[in-house]
Formats: sequence, C-alpha cells, structure tokens
Amino acid sequence: MNEEGFVSYQCAYCGVENETFVDDTAGPRQRYTEDCSVCCRPNVLSITVDPETGNVSVEAQFEG
Ligand SMILES: [Zn+2]
Repeated sequence: MNEEGFVSYQCAYCGVENETFVDDTAGPRQRYTEDCSVCCRPNVLSITVDPETGNVSVEAQFEG
C-alpha cells in the first residue's frame, strides 16, 4: 500500500492491474466488489491488513 492508501490488484477476468483505495481503519478484513477499470467486470476483493506491520494484501476473485 502506498501513502495515499491505494493498493494494486490484478483483475480476475482480464488480468489488467487496477488500484483500489483501502481504508485500513475500517478493519483488518474487508470484502467488497469493484468493477475493473478496463473490462468493467466485478472483482470481489478480499482485503487483509496485517495488524503488526500494517501491510495490506488484496486478492481479487470472480464474483459469485
Ligand atoms: Zn478486467
């Protein structure tokens, strides 16, 4: 995650790299859907925030 709170993930459909804003104050585990900026298909993003390091990881999955 960069200083502004954006993390990059790979679209589960077309493989292009997207960025999503992660509010790490919203909890260590978050899950929401975001449309790919290129193919517009919905990626289900699983956000995990490491409580010790603050590192954020994002996993993109197919919806459904
Ligand atoms: Zn895509």
